[in-house]
Amino acid sequence: MIQQDIEKIKLLLATPKHIVIVPHKNPDGDAMGSTLGLYHYLKKYNHYVTVISPNDYPGFLKWVPGDNTVLIHDYQTDTCNNLINKADIIFTLDFNAIHRTGNMETVLEQSKGIKILIDHHQEPDDYAEFIFSDVTMSSTCEMIYHFIDMLGDSDLIDTNIATCLYLGIMTDTGSFRFPCTTSTTHRIIANLIEKGADSAYIHNQVYDTNSYEKLQLLGCALKNLKVIPELRTAYISLSQEELNTYNFKKGDTEGIVNYGLSLDNIIFAAIFIEDKQEGIIKISLRSKGNFSVNDFSRVHFNGGGHINAAGGRSDLSLNDTIKNFISILPSYSKALNDE
Ligand code: 5GP
Ligand code: MN
Repeated sequence: MIQQDIEKIKLLLATPKHIVIVPHKNPDGDAMGSTLGLYHYLKKYNHYVTVISPNDYPGFLKWVPGDNTVLIHDYQTDTCNNLINKADIIFTLDFNAIHRTGNMETVLEQSKGIKILIDHHQEPDDYAEFIFSDVTMSSTCEMIYHFIDMLGDSDLIDTNIATCLYLGIMTDTGSFRFPCTTSTTHRIIANLIEKGADSAYIHNQVYDTNSYEKLQLLGCALKNLKVIPELRTAYISLSQEELNTYNFKKGDTEGIVNYGLSLDNIIFAAIFIEDKQEGIIKISLRSKGNFSVNDFSRVHFNGGGHINAAGGRSDLSLNDTIKNFISILPSYSKALNDE
């Protein structure tokens, strides 16, 4: 983060402002942790702050401090649009392109509020007055920690802020095991625990609140797992019918894609999830090493993300999407086998 920008933001924040904070659509732990962590920090300066999520988020995030203050654009569209229109400042967190906010795209673009982007995804768009983009960061929560620190306010980090930031660092690092986890990440986590983050409680809330049906759905997904050993690839599919059988709820498929990567010698994993309501196949891609699923998704599936974790979509049927995927793979044979 550039010190000059930090000084300008300090000035901006010196008097109470109307502030809106926005995560990406289908927010995950890092998106909710970073937006609510920043929310609690800005409230300390008596700003008028609202977190507006484009759509609803899963139950395993419904305990996060400040959760009860979050507005959902899908449900309270007029109230949210009014807040966005009159906002002096809009923080956009954990995404790199405004279209990742779904239906909020136009109102965000039209708002005169000063936009501040804080994010760790590849290739950020150029829509904000202030851009804090760092693809080496484990998470946007880690960036919010640095942001507060650079504003000279690490003393203001309390239990609520610490809990929010711990959450996002934990989820985006796969509980501190992905390569983006650095010694600095661990030092920050240590500081957050000292500030009151209860690591056992946070892990429990996110990972140990499964429903029976969610585990049955996981079983179904694992039965559907297919492996292409010569291309070091594994993929899983879930049809709408299968989702319905196990009474699918938002968030139930989170993390399933990673099982493919846990196979010996597999470095590329995908999951294809049918969404009949939106008429698309939602795709999650994961990799190990230098094989960039960000590039793969941008070229073939209208998405993006990070080198080792990206998302995308397809407008074809589930079967045709998988056929398409399988037909593309051989052209990456060298990259997949060089890893
Ligand atoms: P997931 O597979 O968990 O949905 O997403 C993996 C990563 O890629 C996340 O960091 C997420 O923000 C990003 N991502 C997911 N879907 C998209 C997409 O459609 N476009 C872009 N640019 N990034 C995505
Ligand atoms: Mn993130």
